[in-house]
Amino acid sequence: MTIICLDKGHKGKLLGQDCGAVGNGLYESDLTDIIVEGIVNHLKNNYEVDVRIAPRGTLTDRTNYANSIKADYFLSIHINSAVNTNAFGFESFIHNNASQKSLDIQNILHAEIMKYMKQYNVFDRGKKRANFAVLRNSKCSACLIENLFISNVNDAKLLKDDNFLNGLSKSISNGLVLGLGLKKKVVDKKEEIKEEIKDNTYINILNTKDSVKVKINDENVYVENYIINDHIYFSVKDFCNMFGKEYKWDGEKREISIK
Ligand SMILES: [Zn+2]
Repeated sequence: MTIICLDKGHKGKLLGQDCGAVGNGLYESDLTDIIVEGIVNHLKNNYEVDVRIAPRGTLTDRTNYANSIKADYFLSIHINSAVNTNAFGFESFIHNNASQKSLDIQNILHAEIMKYMKQYNVFDRGKKRANFAVLRNSKCSACLIENLFISNVNDAKLLKDDNFLNGLSKSISNGLVLGLGLKKKVVDKKEEIKEEIKDNTYINILNTKDSVKVKINDENVYVENYIINDHIYFSVKDFCNMFGKEYKWDGEKREISIK
């Protein structure tokens, strides 16, 4: 399974002084926390992928971690800042000597993020290269993204908007899905229902006065049913499934045979 290592960029308020950039009442490390959480949720719920978060230690700690788990991709997530408060926009970086694969994924990731950002008139600062330590030291393909400027009033307005951040997480996730060719999770409906029965939520939904709980050999079984005039009605299909029987419906003869 593809392993993605996400880097929150900085240590964060609780872990020391390194919160990254600060501006307009915002802390970079708070924002990268929110963005990374959004990416993790989106990817884990929908795709076949193993997403890990790098420890918030030194730069070396982060890449050592990514290398130790044999990550397939390393994505470092930052918010930009500049002394010139007019600077604004989005940019992405790969290493000066990055592989073709890194370049290909940067192209896709950058395009997906900008497709989203365009709706908010965010300025595209371009796809760049740099000799950043996390890009240099990670063995896998890697990218570093700078998501708007915390020091710019208009960019900061977007960064204060939860909906914007949520959409940003999704666009980053989409870029990773396309760039790394992640497969959609196949959800086994039966398994899902069994899980729900285990924690009783499904039973509570069914346990209304117009339907009944069904047990086979003391095991709860999910089956849609109705009580009409004191008769309990199941679908034939569900009934056959419950007992591992096969059924055949002949529409012309209007006949059901169960084996
Ligand atoms: Zn940063």
